[in-house]
Amino acid sequence: MVLAQLGGGISRALAQMRDATVIDEKVLTDCLHEIARALLQADVHIKMVSDMRSNIRRIVNLEALAAGINKRRIIQQAVFAELCKMLDPGKPSFVPTKGKLSVVMFVGLQGSGKTTTCTKYARYHQRKGFKPSLVCADTFRAGAFDQLKQNATKANIPYYGSYMESDPVKIAVEGVERFRKENSDLIIVDTSGRHKQEAALIEEMRQVAEATKPDLVIFVMDGSIGQAAFDQAQAFKQSASVGAVIVTKLDGHAKGGGALSAVAATKSPVIFIGTGEHIDDIEVFEVKPFVSRLLG
Ligand code: GDP
Repeated sequence: MVLAQLGGGISRALAQMRDATVIDEKVLTDCLHEIARALLQADVHIKMVSDMRSNIRRIVNLEALAAGINKRRIIQQAVFAELCKMLDPGKPSFVPTKGKLSVVMFVGLQGSGKTTTCTKYARYHQRKGFKPSLVCADTFRAGAFDQLKQNATKANIPYYGSYMESDPVKIAVEGVERFRKENSDLIIVDTSGRHKQEAALIEEMRQVAEATKPDLVIFVMDGSIGQAAFDQAQAFKQSASVGAVIVTKLDGHAKGGGALSAVAATKSPVIFIGTGEHIDDIEVFEVKPFVSRLLG
């Protein structure tokens, strides 16, 4: 909902500035006010917004800029750069290496696209020559194992799960053990994502992470969530030390502004985006095109 406003608001603010005959302090202040409002409406954390505002004020010193310099352009570039900075947590995410075992655990709320994204991620690496495998540790949702099984079968990826066992930790450990023996170099653990009993979910994630010791925990978020992104991401971060984010459903109307909050909450980068329901609808995340889309 709010994501369209984010881009729209900033574009509007910049357009207003384009229409102004003279770029003076007042125009800059109004413009920053508009941008801040748009970002806040888009549920970006208030501290990030105020940091961005003061950074731009610092960068764009109108008085110091010589006459003839395109000040509008400088302000636009500063806004663009600040949004890029918000998406850069300053440290890269863990990257699996072919031939060396990595365990990657996926977390996120039900409906975020987690199970679909697990298979996409597996397939992406399979194409690069990895030997991925999938473990279904979601014992909560009836049908979760069938869904993973179907996806995995289509992509010809080995899978592990159980219709009988109700302990997700046991399944996760057994699955990881099985595929370790089978020389998989990328074991992907899908987890439960129920909406209710969130405290129990977070505790379950903690236990699965403790038992499987993943090299990377990926937080999957629906690209259309706004304010909820920060709290969700932070809750998962506290339970399972999230190291990367994947934003799904960016093929729809959502611009994905919630990703800014997820990056801030987890201090982890976005690594991929989901762009459709098909197994190959996954793209490596790139900051600049994403920010252009936000502003567009
Ligand atoms: P989970 O409950 O988090 O495991 O979510 P699922 O993987 O079952 O996905 C929920 C729904 O979102 C399914 O209908 C998926 O096909 C759909 N979905 C997942 N990723 C994307 C995406 O990138 N784009 C679109 N359009 N749909 C997606």
